[in-house]
This record gives sequence, C-alpha cells and structure tokens, in this order.
Amino acid sequence: MHYIITEKGTTAKRIASILSGGKAKKVKIGKIDAYEFGDKVVVGLSGHVFRLDFPDSYNDWTKIDPYKLIDAEIVEVALKKDLIKALERIAKDADAVTIATDYDREGELIGVEALNVLKRVKPELKVDRMRYSAITEQAIKESFAARTVVDYNLADSAKAREMIDLIWGAALTRFVSLAANRLGDGFFSVGRVQSPTLALLVDKEKEIARFIPRKYWELHATLRTENGETFTATHKRGKFWALEDAENAKKKLESAKEGVISELKKRLRRDNPPTPFDTTSFIRAASSIGFTPRRAMNIAESLYLQGLISYHRTDNTTYPETLDLNTLVGLFKSSAEFGEYATLLLKKKQLKPTAGKKKTTDHPPIHPVSVIARDKLDKDEWKVYELVVRRFLATLSDAAKWEDTAVKVELGGEELEAKGHELKQPGFLAVYPYQKKEKEISKLPALREGEKVWLEDLKLVEKETKPPNRISQAGLIKKMEELGLGTKSTRHEIIGKLYERAYVEGNPSRPTEKAFALIDSLEKYAAMMTKPDMTRALEQEMDWISEGKRKKEEVVEESREMLKAVFQEMADNREEIAKSLKEAVKADKIVGTCPECGANLFWATSRRGKRFIGCSNYPECNFSLPLPPSGRVIVTRERCDVHPTLFKLKILKKGKGKTGRAWDFGCPYCNYLQWKNKNNNNNKDSKEKGEDNDNDKDKKADKK
Ligand SMILES: [Zn+2]
Ligand SMILES: [Zn+2]
Repeated sequence: MHYIITEKGTTAKRIASILSGGKAKKVKIGKIDAYEFGDKVVVGLSGHVFRLDFPDSYNDWTKIDPYKLIDAEIVEVALKKDLIKALERIAKDADAVTIATDYDREGELIGVEALNVLKRVKPELKVDRMRYSAITEQAIKESFAARTVVDYNLADSAKAREMIDLIWGAALTRFVSLAANRLGDGFFSVGRVQSPTLALLVDKEKEIARFIPRKYWELHATLRTENGETFTATHKRGKFWALEDAENAKKKLESAKEGVISELKKRLRRDNPPTPFDTTSFIRAASSIGFTPRRAMNIAESLYLQGLISYHRTDNTTYPETLDLNTLVGLFKSSAEFGEYATLLLKKKQLKPTAGKKKTTDHPPIHPVSVIARDKLDKDEWKVYELVVRRFLATLSDAAKWEDTAVKVELGGEELEAKGHELKQPGFLAVYPYQKKEKEISKLPALREGEKVWLEDLKLVEKETKPPNRISQAGLIKKMEELGLGTKSTRHEIIGKLYERAYVEGNPSRPTEKAFALIDSLEKYAAMMTKPDMTRALEQEMDWISEGKRKKEEVVEESREMLKAVFQEMADNREEIAKSLKEAVKADKIVGTCPECGANLFWATSRRGKRFIGCSNYPECNFSLPLPPSGRVIVTRERCDVHPTLFKLKILKKGKGKTGRAWDFGCPYCNYLQWKNKNNNNNKDSKEKGEDNDNDKDKKADKK
C-alpha cells in the first residue's frame, strides 16, 4: 500500500477526496480514521506526534536544582499512544509513504516525527514528500505529481528551536518561581521569546507612567464666504503653549472686519493600493476589524483547511509568477459580493499586482483560492474570508486619487489654515474600504485666491498632550517581527500566553505588577533575557540549520553555554530577585482600600482553602468579602463607581486561553451586596455559601 500522511484529520479527508475524485472510503487503522482508494490510504496526524521533555526524575521542582536542567537528557514523549500504534501498523503494511504535512518548519518536523516511528519498524521504507500551499484540486494534484524528498535540515531547525525553548523555559521558569516561592498555579513563567516581548509592554507602560501632560490651546474659526458657504480653519500656529498668546490672537481675529484668502494650493495625490498579505499584515488588518491575533489565525486556519484561502503562515509579500491571476480573478465573476468588481478588473489589458519587500519561495502571500457564498460560512469566517478576497482584488487595482487643497486666510493680521481632501478616483478603495476611515473625506467649498471671508464663529479650545498609546496586540506582533522575536507561526501564541499567565490584561495589553517585577528583576540581573538580541541571533542560527550551514547539535550546545552564563548572573543575585518578586506578588493581591478603616484590602486563601478579600488591619478590622472558589484573580486598575476605593476584578478560568478574554467579575463589594439581597429575599442560606458566589449559580437560582 501507498500511505499519504497529512498533518490533520480534516486535511486527510479532503486530500483523499481530491486524489480519488470523491471515491475514497473511510476505514480505521486501529483507532485512527483513514481514507482508502485503489492502492492508496490517506491518514491524518493531529499535529505533533511527540513533545520534548526531561525524564520523569526531573519533575520535582523542589528537589532538582534548576541549573541541572541545562545539561539534562531530553526525551520524546508520545502525545497519542493510539497514533503510535497506528503508525507501526502502517509501517508493516506500507510499500511507500508520502509525507503531506503543512509545508513549513513545524510541518516538516511533524512529518519527520511520524517517519521516525515508521522507520523504526521498517528502515528500508520508500519515502517522499508533497508540498502544497492550498488545499484545492489543482494544488493537491500538482504537488502529488511533483513529489520530492523530505527536508531533514528544515525539520532539524524546528527541533533545535523546540529543544532550546524547553531548556531555557524550564530552567529559568523554575529558578525564578523557586526564588519567589511561587510554585503551582501562580508560578513565574520565563521564556526566550516571551520575556523580551513582555519587556516591550512593560517599558511602554513605564513611558506612559512617566509622562507628564502639558496644556495647550488651539483656535478654531468658522469662516463664511461671499455666497454664504462656511468652512472651518485653525490658527497657523496650531498649538499655543501659553494661554496669553492664544487670547491675544483671538482678540485680533475678533476685531477684524473681514479677511481674505491669501493662498490656495491644489495638489493631486496618489494613494497606492496595499501589498499582498503576509501573516503579519493580515493579522494587523484583521485586528482593525475587531479580531485578536489568535482568533484571526484560528479562522484563517479553518478557511485554509476548507480550501478557501492559501496557507496562512507566510512571510511572502510578492505573488509568484506562476500564480495565474486572471484565472483567480475570473473565479469571482459569478460571486454576488465581488462579481461586479472582478468583471471590472478583468477588462484591464494586463493585471499588474503590487508587491511588498519580502519574497520567499515556500508559500505565496495569503490569497483566496476558491469562491464561496456568504451564507455557507459563519459570520466571523465570512468577515475574514471577505477581507482576504478584498485585499487580493485591491492588490490588482489602480491607485486611488485624491485632490488635496491647502488654504491660507489672513484675518486681523493673523493667519489661519484650512485643508480639504476630495476623492477624485476611488481606485482600490472601491473594493477595499477598510482604510478609508483614516483618510476621511473633508470637502472645502469652491474658493479662490483673493476672495473675501468673514468670521462667523471663533473658539478657544483647551487641550492636553497625551501619553503614548499602549501597544495593541496587532501592533505588538509587528514590533516582534521587526525585532526578530518569534516566528509567523508562534507570535500570536506567545501573546496568548502572556494573558494566560496573568502578565497582562485588557486590550491593548496592560502589564500587571507581577510583570513589572519580573521584567525589573530580569533587566537588573539578567538583562539578556529582556533584550531581543539573543533571540534574534538564535533565529539566524535556525535559518542556518535549515540551509544546512550549521548542525542542530552545535546550535543547541552553544545555547546551553549561553544559558549557563545567564544563570550564573541570576544565581549571584538570587536574594534581590526573590525580594522584588515577592513584593510584586503581594502588590498584585491588593484590591483597594478598606471602606471601613482605610487600610489595604487584599485577596488571600484561608487555611481551609477558601478565597476571600480581607483587611490588612485584621483583627482590629473585620471587613471581608467573598470570592469565587476557582480561576485566577486579576486586579484591574478600573475603580467601582459605587465603591471608588475598590478595583474591579477579572477572573481567568483555567484551560481557556482566549486572548484578552476573562470573566469580568467587577466590583467584589457590589457582587457581595447583590448576593446578599437575593439571599435575604430567599430568607435562607448562610454567609458560608456566599464564598461560592458566582454569576452562573445566581442565574440558576433565578430560574427556580
Ligand atoms: Zn478595614
Ligand atoms: Zn462596588
């Protein structure tokens, strides 16, 4: 038999259906689904076959010196025993095997993991590899016909990364968590990519905290023309830093009887169509229509698996010459949403796509590969699919053309300015409306130089300089890319982990005290862990491994030596690190100040394992509030309207790592009062139960 091994069950089914013309039959290999036709069987893995870990004897955090992990043996642990059994059966039965996992480092490694199991049983097995960028009939048939060899160097580069991340992550996480005496749920996670990323957010937050706002004033005038039309203009100076200056200018303007248009300039401006989507620019665009990076990537993956868009993990922003643009646009001629525009595009003599700076050969930029009707997808899937289609069509479109008008007005010896923008030719904006917002159309009436104008209204507006913005999740991904932190496949996952580990909350992300303390300690005692340089250097090494210029073992060994140096520095400063982390853990537990005595309120766990909010002035003050029994408590910086001394809480439920999403618990005092009200009505239940108070239970009680 000839076995074809794909990365997932869904791809196995689709590829079998394409290669068999819909004739493949579902069969079982042990407990694993497979699809058989003729002499071929297609079977799907579920991502990685193995994960890397240290031997069990290293499991006890309290007994093993974290330093020992650096040189510890690394073992492969099978993720699904049933899958290993199925692979062993396949090996016995197979004459040939084709690896058909996703075409990138991770996919190559997953293929090699499966191969290692197969070859243990049958070393002489004939193996080849098919590589495709979209799960469409054409792409699959072509790549099956043009099968090549497995790229062991590419797989090695992914494996080296996995090994290095395990060693660094485990050793440093354990060291820091032990120093802070935080084991179990609230441990301090440290990582090669994660920590420099977190440092970016903490540094920005410090910049915001240091910022001192400064007042300034602006003058906004409404002017009337000879034929009664009005337009607004602002004083040429823009910001007045002294109120006196602004008031003087205001007086002069008000005393003038009439003004004159002293200058009028018109300029035609081209607004070029966007370049094709790579993963980063896709994530940014998806974020502007409300998707977090993780959600955007999950939806893109689903669209890819359904054969609707090309592979979504790509660094490429240049369409390959082999991509038949005319045929692709032709697909959309009959589409209800894009048909009209596609037909218009096809009337052009030649389709000339835009191109970005990056050109790689593995995958094309993200583009649609087949047409689907709106009602066949769920709402969010459609939004993302529509974005990809519109972006694709936009890259083949003409530039938009704007006419910019700049007007100067002289009035009472002062100069005012007005600006207008008018869209003359929509070009790509007709199909790609997503960026219109920033370039809002503001029209001026028809004006000419020398024309008289009169002051209709004049406002002195007080403003304040604003601190720099927090970095949005999509902005963070762009920044990570610029600094060489992580890869197109991992960046959104890393950000998700910062949320799961309670290092950040909200969107844009705001670091918690825990994050500040960790980054402060690392910056002081292990600066290397907060800077992108080391990780970027390592990414370079990964490239060299995949190009066959370096060996995996060498790179891992070098990275072990690097880690030993970092470790030495941290071990020398263990006391200071411990102190600052312990203080941060305490600070993160402060929920506000006590409404009864004014001391700090903090949350804690009682000896009986119950969580509550108590007063630091106990036993003099008995004030306390109940808390839900499970989930990680995150104190936000948002105060309750009714109890302004208390911060609102969020509860992060275990296992559900939805980026930026947590249960908004709100004010613990309000929650308690609500619960008490209900219970008074029911005339029952002790306060004891209040400690289990959570919204779901309240809802159930309502229904009774
Ligand atoms: Zn108190
Ligand atoms: Zn409240």
